[in-house]
Amino acid sequence: TATKPRQPVLKTSLPGPKTAEIMARDKQHLSTSYMRPYPFVPDHGAGVWLTDVDGNTMLDFFAGIAVSTTGHAHPHVVQAVQKQIEKFTHVCLTDYPQEITTSLAERLVKHVERPGEKWRVFFSNSGAEAVEAAVKLARNHTGRQHIISTMGSFHGRTYGAITLTGSKTKYKRGFGPLLPAVSHVPYPNPFRPPLGSTSETCGQAVLEHIESLFVGILPADEVAAIIVEPMQGEGGYIVPPADFLPGLRALCDKHGIMLIFDEVQAGMGRTGKMFSFQHFGNNGENCQPDIITSAKGIASGMPLGALLAKESVMTWPVGSHGSTYGGNPVAAAAAHATLDLLEGQVKYDGCGESLMHNAAEVGEYIMAELKKMQQEFPFIGDVRGRGLFIGIEFVKPDGSPDGALRDRASMAMFEKGLLNLDCGEAVIRISPPLILTREEAATGLEIMREALRELK
Ligand code: PMP
Repeated sequence: TATKPRQPVLKTSLPGPKTAEIMARDKQHLSTSYMRPYPFVPDHGAGVWLTDVDGNTMLDFFAGIAVSTTGHAHPHVVQAVQKQIEKFTHVCLTDYPQEITTSLAERLVKHVERPGEKWRVFFSNSGAEAVEAAVKLARNHTGRQHIISTMGSFHGRTYGAITLTGSKTKYKRGFGPLLPAVSHVPYPNPFRPPLGSTSETCGQAVLEHIESLFVGILPADEVAAIIVEPMQGEGGYIVPPADFLPGLRALCDKHGIMLIFDEVQAGMGRTGKMFSFQHFGNNGENCQPDIITSAKGIASGMPLGALLAKESVMTWPVGSHGSTYGGNPVAAAAAHATLDLLEGQVKYDGCGESLMHNAAEVGEYIMAELKKMQQEFPFIGDVRGRGLFIGIEFVKPDGSPDGALRDRASMAMFEKGLLNLDCGEAVIRISPPLILTREEAATGLEIMREALRELK
C-alpha cells in the first residue's frame, strides 16, 4: 500500500493557480446560494487526506459534513460500488424488489429492533427526504397534523424540513409560506440552559415547557410527532442531559405522540454507537423512538437516506410514498461496505475491532486533549460531544458566543492544512472520517493548537 501522508503538504499558497481559476468559473456559473468560505478544490482523496487540484494535501476533520465515514476512496467501498455498477445502476425500487436493498434494510433494523418489535425501512436519497417521509408517515399514521420541533435544529432544505428547522432565519426568509402546524420548543443545551434552568435541570425544564403547551395552547391530541436530534448537529454539536430523551419518550407515550429521532448527522456510528440516542436511557432501551431518519454517513458519500420505523407505525398504504432513485443499488452497495467496516466485519488498518469502536476511542482521546487545550485558551468556553462528534465553542470574556473569533480560528486552521467546519453560533465541529487514527488525530490537534496560539 502507498505510504499515507503524516502531515499536510502545502505546495502553493492557498488558493493555488488552478484552484483560483476553477473558483472564478464556479462564481460565474453556479447558484448564487452556494457559500465558498475556503479556497480548496479537491482533486482526489485517500483515507483522511484530501489533495486539491494544485497538489496541496490537507487533513480532513469535517468529512464533507459528517458524511465520509470510511474516508476518501476506501478500497472496500470502491470495490463494492464498482461491482454493483457493472451489474446494474438502476431499476426503480418502488416497483421491483432488489436483494441489495432488502439485505441492507435487514442489516439496518438489526441495530434498533428489540425482542417482539419489528422495524421497517423506506429508502430516500438524502436527509431532507427522509425527514419529509417521517412527517408524512407520522401524520398518516396518527391522523393528527401538528409537529413539534426544537430551536437550533437543522432538518434540511425542502419545504417540510426548513419548516421544522429551528436555526438561522436565512433558511426561511423569502421562501414562505411554510408548512402549517409546526411549533418549536427550546433544545436542552447544558452549556446555555434555556428557560431559566441549569445544565442539570434543562432537560426537565424543556419537558415541562412542552407539557405546559398542552394546557390551553396546543391540544396534545392534535400533535402527530415530536422530532428531535438526539445530539444537535448544525445547532452546535450539543449533547442533551441524560434524562431528556427518556423523559421525552415517556411524554410521547402519555399523549400518543410519535417520537422521531433525526439521526442524519449524529447517527451511523459517528458517536461510537450506531445511533446517538443509544448513549441515553440504558443503551436506548428507555428512549426508543418510533421513527428514525438517517443519511449522511450511511453510504460513505453515495447519496442515500433512510427512514426506519416500527412496523406498528409504518402503516401508510401501498403506493402512497416513493422515490425514483431512493435506495439506488449503487448507493446501497456503498452502504453495505460502510456497514461492513462500521460493524467490524471487514477490518481497517489501525482501527481496532470496528470503525464504530475506533470512533469511540479516538474521540475520547481528542476530547481529553481538547479539555487540556481549554486550560491554555480561555476563549474555549466548552468542549463537548461523543465519539467523533465533537464541538468546540468559542466565547468572549463575558461568556457570550464569539463567532468572529471562531471564524478566525477556523481560517487559521485551514491555512495550516486542516479542513474544518463551523456550526452553531460560535462552534467548530470535529467530524472526521471514522477511520481517523490516534496519530492522525494528534496531527490535527497540533495544527489546532498552533492556530489557536496565533490568536492569543
Ligand atoms: N437532518 C440533519 C440532522 C442534518 O444535519 C441534515 C444535514 N446537515 C439534514 C437533516 C439534511 O440532510 P440533507 O442535506 O442530506 O438533505
